[in-house]
Amino acid sequence: MAMKWLIDASYFVAAILFILGLKGMSSPVSARKGIVWAGVGMVLATVVTFLTPGMHNFALMLLAITLGGAVAWISGKKVAMTDMPQMVAIYNGMGGGAAAAIAAVEFARGEMHGVVVTLLATLGALIGAVSFSGSVIAWAKLQGVMKKAFRLPAQNAVNIVLALVTIAVGGAIVIAPTIDPLLVGAFFVLALLLGVIITLPIGGADMPVVISLFNAFTGLAVGFEGFVMGIPALIIAGIVVGAAGTLLTQLMAKAMNRPISNILFVPMAAAGGGEAVEGEQKELGAMDAAALMRYASKVIIVPGYGMAVAGAQHKVWEMAELLEEAGVEVVFAIHPVAGRMPGHMNVLLAEAGVPYEKIFDLEEINGDFAQADVALVIGANDVVNPSARTDKSSPIYGMPILNADLAQNVIVVKRGKGTGYSGIENALFYKENTRLLYGSAQQAIGEVIQHVKAMSV
Ligand code: NDP
Repeated sequence: MAMKWLIDASYFVAAILFILGLKGMSSPVSARKGIVWAGVGMVLATVVTFLTPGMHNFALMLLAITLGGAVAWISGKKVAMTDMPQMVAIYNGMGGGAAAAIAAVEFARGEMHGVVVTLLATLGALIGAVSFSGSVIAWAKLQGVMKKAFRLPAQNAVNIVLALVTIAVGGAIVIAPTIDPLLVGAFFVLALLLGVIITLPIGGADMPVVISLFNAFTGLAVGFEGFVMGIPALIIAGIVVGAAGTLLTQLMAKAMNRPISNILFVPMAAAGGGEAVEGEQKELGAMDAAALMRYASKVIIVPGYGMAVAGAQHKVWEMAELLEEAGVEVVFAIHPVAGRMPGHMNVLLAEAGVPYEKIFDLEEINGDFAQADVALVIGANDVVNPSARTDKSSPIYGMPILNADLAQNVIVVKRGKGTGYSGIENALFYKENTRLLYGSAQQAIGEVIQHVKAMSV
C-alpha cells in the first residue's frame, strides 16, 4: 500500500515536472531550466517504474536503458546544429515506436479486458506505428540517405485506401472476442506501411513540419498507451507532447502560410512559380559593406538558413559586437520559420552568445525596419521576400515576412543566385536600395570584420 502511494505520488510529481518543463521551454531565457526539469521528471518516472509490484526482467531493463542512454548521450554531444531536425525526427520516431511496441506486448499477452481498452491500445498502436515509420523516412530524407521524393500515381487515393484498410483491420481487432495474432501482425505491417507511404512523397524541406506533426502523433499514442497501462504520468506526458506538437505544427504551417493538408498532399513545386522579377542584382564588396554598417546608427541583422549552413553565427556576433563598440545599435530580427526548424536561429544565436534582449520576433521588430540604416540579410531569402505581400501568384503569398526591404539600405549575404526553400526568385535582391555581398556567410562576414577593425583603429 505504502509502495503504491509512493509510486503514484512520484508519477504525479513527474507529471508536474513535465508541465513546468514545457512552460520553461516557451522562452529562450528559461529553456535550459525547462529541459532539466522535464529530464528530472523523466528520470523520476523511470526509476519509480522499477518499484512496480510484479515487475521483473530488471537486467534487461537496465541493459536497454544503458544502451539507449549511451547512444543518445554520444549522438547528442556530437550532433551538428544543422543536423538537429533529423535527430529530433529519429528520437521522436522512437517514442512512437515505443508506444506501438507497448500495444504489441499488450496484444501478445492477451490480457486486455474490455472494448475501450482494446480500442485505445489499437489507436495508440496505429498512430505510434505511423509516427515511427514516417519519422524514419523523414530522418532518411533530412540526412540525405534518401535523396528523391517518391510520388506514386494517384498517391492521395493510395493513402486513403491504405488508411481505410488499416483502420478496418484495427476495427476487427477491437470487436473480435479474442486477440488474433494474424490480424494483429497484419495491422502492424499495414500501419508501418502507411507511415512510409504518407511520408515518401513529401519533400525534404517540408519535413520539419511533418516531424512536428509526427511528434504530436507520438504524444497521442503515448497518452493512449498510458490509459491502457493505467499510468497517469504517461497519460499526462502524452497529452502534453500531443498538445504542444499540434500547436507547433499549426504555428509552423501558419507562419509558412501553407495549410497542413497542403504540406501532406501537395508537393511544393506544384504550387506555382510567382511573377518574374526584373532588374539586376547590384554587388558590393566587403569593405563597402563594412563602411555602410560602421557609420550607421542602427543595423538590423536578419539571419536565415544560409547562416546555419555556413555555421557563421559566431562571426556574425563578433561583427555585431565590433559595430556596437563603434556606437552602432545592432539588433537581430528572427522570422518564425527562418532556417529549417522552429527556433533554429534562436538556438544558433544563443550558442554564439547573443544576449536575448537583442533578439526580436517578427511582430516586435517589423515596425523598426523603416528607421534602420541597414538591414543585413545573412543567408535568409524567403523570409524577406516582399512578393509574399504583393504577388498573389507567388507560392509564399500571404506569408508574413520581415520588412527588410523598408530599411534605408539592404545588404544581402549569399553565395550566388541560389533560391531559398520555396525555389522562387526574390524581388528584394533586385531593389534599388539592395546590394549583394557574395560569398559564404562565414567567409563574407569574416572579411567585413577585418574592414570594420581597420576602420576603428
Ligand atoms: P531560405 O531557404 O529561403 O534561403 C536560404 C538562402 O541562403 C538561399 O538563398 C541561399 O542562397 C543562401 N545560402 C545557402 N548557403 C549559404 C551559405 N553558406 N552562405 C550564405 N548564404 C547561403 O532561408 P530562410 O531562412 O529565409 O527561409 C526558410 C525557409 O524554409 C522558408 O521558406 C520556410 O517556410 C522554410 N521552412 C522552415 C521551417 C522552419 O521550421 N524554420 C520548416 C520548413 C520549411 P545561395 O545559394 O545563393 O547562397
